[in-house]
Amino acid sequence: MDVIEVVGFDGDDTLWHSEHLFADAHERVATLLAPHVERGVLERRMHEVERANLALFGYGIKGFTLSLIETAIELTEGAVTASEIGELLTLGKTMLAHPVDLLDGVTDVLAEVAMTRRLVLITKGDLLHQESKIARSGLAERFEQIEIVVDKDEQTYRRIIAATGTPPERFAMVGNSLRSDVLPVVAAGGHGVLIPYEFVAEHEKVDDADPARDGYRELESISGLPAALDALDELG
Ligand SMILES: [Mg+2]
Repeated sequence: MDVIEVVGFDGDDTLWHSEHLFADAHERVATLLAPHVERGVLERRMHEVERANLALFGYGIKGFTLSLIETAIELTEGAVTASEIGELLTLGKTMLAHPVDLLDGVTDVLAEVAMTRRLVLITKGDLLHQESKIARSGLAERFEQIEIVVDKDEQTYRRIIAATGTPPERFAMVGNSLRSDVLPVVAAGGHGVLIPYEFVAEHEKVDDADPARDGYRELESISGLPAALDALDELG
C-alpha cells in the first residue's frame, strides 16, 4: 500500500501559468503612469496597496485591478485621467480573459500520479475566476475533489485533509508557494513538495526557509514529482 495516498495540487503557477500576468501588468502600469510617477515609487506603493487590500478584496485579479486604480489615484494626487483609469480596467479584464497555459509536463504527470494515488486540487482566490480557469484547463476530471479557498492556512489544510478521510502523514501537497502550499501543510502533519515558479508574488514571499530544517522537499519541475512521491513512500 502506498504511503502517500492523496496528493493535493495548487493551481496557479503549479499547474498553469499565472504570476507572469501580474509581472507583465506591473510593467504596463509603469509605462502608463510614467508621465505621472517615478518607477521605483510606483512599484513600492503598488505592493503596499495590494497587500493592505488583501483582507478586503482577497486574492485575485479583480482586487489587484482595484488596487492599481487606488495606487494611481493616490500617487498622481487625483491627476490620473479617466482614460488612464479605463486602461487599467482593460488591463484587468484582459488578465481575467487570458487563456489558461499549462506548465510543461503537467498533463502527463497528473495522469501518472493518478494511477496510484487520489488527487485533489486546492486553489485560492476569486471563486469565479478560479472556476473558469479549472474548467478551461481541461484538468478537472483528474481530481476527486476541488477546493477553492479564501486562504491556505494550517486550519484550511486540516479541514481538507480530514475530508479526504486520509491521515495527514499520507497526504502530500504540491505547489509553488512556501507560505501557502508547503509550510502550513507540514504544520498540519502532511508532506510539502515545493516547485518554485519563475515569479513569486510579494505577498507569498518567505524570508528564510530550508527544506531540511523545515521538513519539505523541493523540485525543479513537476516532472520530478512521481519519483519524489515514490521516495516519500520508501521513507514511510
Ligand atoms: Mg500557486
